[in-house]
Amino acid sequence: MYTRYVWTPAPRPSVAVAGSEDRFAVRRIFCVGRNYAEHVREMGGDPKSDPPIFFTKPADAIVASGGEVSYPPQTSDLHHEVELVVALKSGGRDIPPEQALSHVYGYAVGNDLTRRDLQHAARDKGLPWDMAKAFDASAQIGAIAPAERFGMPGAQSVWLTVNGQQRQRSVLSQMIWSVPEIIGLLSGYVALQAGDLIYTGTPDGVGPLQRGDQVRAGIDGLDELEFRIAE
Ligand code: MN
Repeated sequence: MYTRYVWTPAPRPSVAVAGSEDRFAVRRIFCVGRNYAEHVREMGGDPKSDPPIFFTKPADAIVASGGEVSYPPQTSDLHHEVELVVALKSGGRDIPPEQALSHVYGYAVGNDLTRRDLQHAARDKGLPWDMAKAFDASAQIGAIAPAERFGMPGAQSVWLTVNGQQRQRSVLSQMIWSVPEIIGLLSGYVALQAGDLIYTGTPDGVGPLQRGDQVRAGIDGLDELEFRIAE
């Protein structure tokens, strides 16, 4: 017996694996809202007082490196946010931070595309962020490097340029919450599983993108991410 659907289901979103023909099938996309002190300050927050905020994007918001992204509707302040993405091969609930890295398949460079004007309007009214963050084509991602090739997140630089000009530059060790802490805290809210991606937050320097802009982003040891905002 096979399942007869009313229509043909869309293909499962997936991400390239560096140096392999295999693809990483995406289950869910989680994101950390504030995780670098200088970015929390530029958004008007206090890095020490605030616990991490978690939000989500739909799995089909994934855009592979090299793609072109249409300027999305309902915004005039579209922002880039370069981030380390953690790709899980297993999961569970209430994962102790000291065991968290055993669930990591690999890492990639990501961009958490954000309708900043909608985010600020929602924040000011205490409303959800979904339409500011979880819109179509809002999750750019480069190829995933297996964890054993990347090593431990820490001393690697993270950067983003727009039309060749540097906008963001930091070091992964500047994260307020480390990758093991993020996995531990997030698994206290939801049961994590293989295929989950976690965008771990952006450093300072976020800013607007215009039609025609060419974006490049990188983290030492990972394949670069690039995408273009369509004219
Ligand atoms: Mn972000």
